[in-house]
Amino acid sequence: MSLSINGVGMTSQRTRDRLINILREHQIENEDVLSVIASTPRHLFVDEALSSRAYENISLPIGHGQTISQPYMVARMTELLLADGPIKRVLEVGTGSGYQTAILSKLVFSVFSVERIRPLLDTAKDKFRQLKLNNVLTRYSDGGWGWPEKAPFDAIIVTAAPEVLPTSLLEQLVDGGRLIIPMGKKGEQELLLFQRVGNKFHKKTLEKVSFVPLLKGRT
Ligand code: SAH
Repeated sequence: MSLSINGVGMTSQRTRDRLINILREHQIENEDVLSVIASTPRHLFVDEALSSRAYENISLPIGHGQTISQPYMVARMTELLLADGPIKRVLEVGTGSGYQTAILSKLVFSVFSVERIRPLLDTAKDKFRQLKLNNVLTRYSDGGWGWPEKAPFDAIIVTAAPEVLPTSLLEQLVDGGRLIIPMGKKGEQELLLFQRVGNKFHKKTLEKVSFVPLLKGRT
């Protein structure tokens, strides 16, 4: 039996609304972001065995040693991305389950998403088709190099943490564009925001975070 988009019981709208209240308690304020999270079926992006936990504010395993990000983190990064007003083109590095991609696709004109683990990308693409997210374009590659052919981007969001900043990402931002990226070793990571002003980049350190590492190459 395939899971329904609307969900029942632990995946119902009531359960999703409870998550929205938790996000509000964690100071997520952008109503567009909250309403997209409320209407996006996160349970479709995790294994069926975990679907009853899909609306808890936790990250969950998605196989291949990777995780679907915690809803709070997805909300926070999306809110930061939109903080200067509406944007059109976003690059996401680390498609993973495709959940963050799905949230972005409802809030911006086009999402370009890059993933280095083929089976994860294939599964995520099935979800985009199922949910008719026609403004998502994906690529199987090492996203540390960005996606030069599609650059420049209004914003870039990285959902895995490098220890050293991949500078090609900065070069692929429009003037005024933002890069949101977790950085650092396991246990010592921080969420950073870079904003391009001409050929300078303003850096802001936001909060302590915990992400899987950004790895090189494809598998
Ligand atoms: N946004 C995803 C997060 C998945 S975890 C979600 O909510 O499901 C981070 C993902 O980044 C993993 O799928 C991992 O394979 C991917 N990743 C790590 N290094 C990468 C790289 N260099 N290029 C592209 N993807 C990468």
